[in-house]
Amino acid sequence: MARQLSPETEEAVRARIGYFRDLGIFDLYRRDLAPDPTTIATVPGTEAPSVPAADAKSDLEITPDMPSSLPLMPGQNKAGQNKPIAPKERAAALQAIRSDIGDCTRCALSAGRHTIVFGDGDPNARLMFVGEGPGADEDAQGLPFVGRAGQLLNNMINAMGLRRDQVYIANIVKCRPPQNRVPEPLEANTCLPFLFRQIDVIQPEVLVALGSTAATYLLAGRSPLSALRGRIHHARGAKLIVTYHPAYLLRDPRQKKEAWADLQLAMTELGLTTPAKASSP
Ligand code: URA
Repeated sequence: MARQLSPETEEAVRARIGYFRDLGIFDLYRRDLAPDPTTIATVPGTEAPSVPAADAKSDLEITPDMPSSLPLMPGQNKAGQNKPIAPKERAAALQAIRSDIGDCTRCALSAGRHTIVFGDGDPNARLMFVGEGPGADEDAQGLPFVGRAGQLLNNMINAMGLRRDQVYIANIVKCRPPQNRVPEPLEANTCLPFLFRQIDVIQPEVLVALGSTAATYLLAGRSPLSALRGRIHHARGAKLIVTYHPAYLLRDPRQKKEAWADLQLAMTELGLTTPAKASSP
């Protein structure tokens, strides 16, 4: 018989399952820790759909044609795996992610923000930039990189022979951290699945991580920027290039030359040539 949970635990489990659903995760597996089935608890309303005995398959065996009554997210196949989204459907798929975020209160950053800064640009961009988190200007306008650092990023994009509306720009966290501090791991990890879904929809060929926070979370590990720059990494199916954050370049403009070398690496990967009169931003 199923063990009853306390109302508090039941509410906590329900909230956690709802959180995973918001992230587009519908299939959850319970580790088989309790050999005695009477110790397995069920939260009403969250039971797995029953599979007739004749059709029963191993827990781990999921085939794309497996019947499923679970709701699917745009871009998910029946196994709950992401499938490439057709270019004309990407804007709507990004909108669906924005709707899932809603008026987010999943982490403490929500308390101090004015606006959620989702991301901006071409849903079919070949090149995507990822920064750390919104600052005061971004928090006020709801758009990424619109302050001084954003002006420099625009110059960097233009120097590559591109317009800002031809790329996509987002951040590791979508809400402004107090005093522009570095996001805490809990804040970044809470927000990160939404960024990953954006990347999976856009499928950029090249991702540029702007600064250490973006590099750390996109690469799932911390290394000094000096060890990461100048070579191609991979993240979510894209080539990933690491460069300095524009705010750092504003403080130490001597590093712009180095940043320009990183952007030229991105251009090479994209098959772009330097515009005739371009020079380092
Ligand atoms: N810095 C960031 O990392 N992101 C922004 O959007 C603005 C400044």
